[in-house]
Formats: sequence, C-alpha cells, structure tokens
Amino acid sequence: MVSVNTVTGKVDSKQLGCTLVHEHLLLRSDSVAIQFPHLYDDQSNFLKAVEQVKAVKSQGVHTICDPTVMGIGRDIRFMERVAHETEMKIIAATGIYSYNDIPPIFQNRDINYLADVFIRDIEVGIQNTSIKAGFLKCTADAAGITEDLDKVFRAIARAQKVTGVPIMTHSHPESSNGLKQMDIFEDEGVDPKFIMIGHCGDTDNIDYITQILKRGAFIGMDRYGQAPLPYEKRNTTLIELIKKGFANRMFLSQDYCCSFDWFPPEHEFFKTYPKWSMTFLLDEVVPQLLNTGVTEEQVRTMMYDNVRCWFEGTYELPTIDRVIKEPNSI
Ligand SMILES: [Zn+2]
Repeated sequence: MVSVNTVTGKVDSKQLGCTLVHEHLLLRSDSVAIQFPHLYDDQSNFLKAVEQVKAVKSQGVHTICDPTVMGIGRDIRFMERVAHETEMKIIAATGIYSYNDIPPIFQNRDINYLADVFIRDIEVGIQNTSIKAGFLKCTADAAGITEDLDKVFRAIARAQKVTGVPIMTHSHPESSNGLKQMDIFEDEGVDPKFIMIGHCGDTDNIDYITQILKRGAFIGMDRYGQAPLPYEKRNTTLIELIKKGFANRMFLSQDYCCSFDWFPPEHEFFKTYPKWSMTFLLDEVVPQLLNTGVTEEQVRTMMYDNVRCWFEGTYELPTIDRVIKEPNSI
C-alpha cells in the first residue's frame, strides 16, 4: 500500500477502487486560454465536467486519473472544484504535453532543472497551491521522440525515481514509438512496473503491443470511443491479449475530454464516434466484453487492481493460465 495524491488530499492506494485511468475534465491550449479567455465559457465547461463525473460516479467509478498537464490547459483549481462538487477522487498529473518542442526556458536548461519542476508539483504543490500531482505524464506522437521530447522523457524518468509516483505516456503505435519510450525509461533506470505506455489500443498490432508488455510496462487500452479504431476492433485486440495472460497489465479508459477546444463542434472528429463520452466504457464496452467471454474477475483486474498496482509499482500474478470462458458458459 502507498499513499496517493488526489486533488482533495492523500488516499491509500487500496482505496482507489474502480478507476478510469485516462480522462480529461478540461482540455484546451493553455496559452490561448490565458491570452484570449473570451473564447472560453468557464461556467459551461465546469458544468460539463460535473455532469460527466457525476454520471460515471453513478456507474460505480470511484477514481479518475486526469493526465492534463502543461500544453493542454491544466487548471488545478478547476479540477479541485469538480472534485468537491462531485465528491469523486481525482488524481492530477505533472508533465508536458507536446508532440515536438518545449519552451526555451526548458530548452536552454538541463534535464535536472526540468525534473525539479515536476518533483515540486508532486512534493510541494501545483500552480502555487498545496494540491499535489499523483503521477507523471509525457508525450510523443508521429514526429517521434525529438531532442526536446527526449529531455522531457528523461526528466520524467528522474522525477519518477525521486518521488516514486508512476508514469503515463501518450504514444503513437503507428510508428511503434512506445518501444522508444521504453528505451529511454530503461536507460534512466525506471522500474517498468511504474510505467504505462498509453494509447496502445490504437493499434491491432498484437506483436508490437506484446513487445511492450514483455518489457514489463502496463499499457493503456484507453481510447474507447475514439478514432482510429471502432470499439469492437479494440475489444478484439484486448481479448487476444487477455488470452495471452495480460489482463493484469492493461487499463480501460476513454481519453474523453469534457470540453475540448482543438476542433469546432461541427468538426468530423466529433461525428465519427458520436458515442464518445465518459460513460461509454461502462455503458457499452464492458457489457460487450462480458458477453464475449471476458470474466468479471478480468474486468475487475483491469479496472480496480491494476491502478493500485501501478501506483505501488507491482503487478498481480500473471493470468496466463486463466482461460476466457466460452460465451455460452456465462
Ligand atoms: Zn489524453
């Protein structure tokens, strides 16, 4: 058992319960929100987040990890207000969201300077509050791990080793960069049990995903309801991996954004998967998984146990010998 920082105080890792490990209460370009605040309706955004969080609370969710960090508008007071209003356990992150470069202040200073910034968020508080981050977040997409992002990944790794909190990444399976992320973490000496390579469910390349799992990390099957894959295809991959014994290493989530400024409301993004929401997973995906032979125990492992293990830097025993039940036997 370890102590975990939520935005409303510390909890024991055993108390996390059913967890959505990757959802955003608010996602926006932080420089735009500061310079052109008239573009945003704060009250409406607050109500949208409260509505979604209350809805998943009524589904039985106890905790939400929100990996909104620098670059996508982290606002710790906003997260705190939502947590108070909904009485949900919400865990905030520290880190940087970028697909290419980082601001000159960090470009022109060393890795440890950046690591110290992250460590302060975890040990002292975020944005000059005493609200502490519970995990670390870093990103790399189609551009790969640029020189700037290499610095971020190494700073994140060093902050992990000092603080003991786990790491979540945004990866780009199409270019297999989850493996390159693992290279850096291994080079920095991070225990892989504290690592979650995010967005692995965006591919059905079992070979690639298995390579990451074999290196000891957790993976995020964390974009249910989003492009590029319909949820049925995501389930096929998930079931294949469960059959290989990896239920104890996967997370289910949606990467839902209660408000999201990247696209106008009429954009294709929102039309392709209109069911995308914070409740979609438990409304449709999990019942579908149970119908196709995944056991309640395996769902429980993915939604309850794995988050505790990730924070504790451990995992449950491999489930390689557990067989998925035939649909008729349920
Ligand atoms: Zn996300």
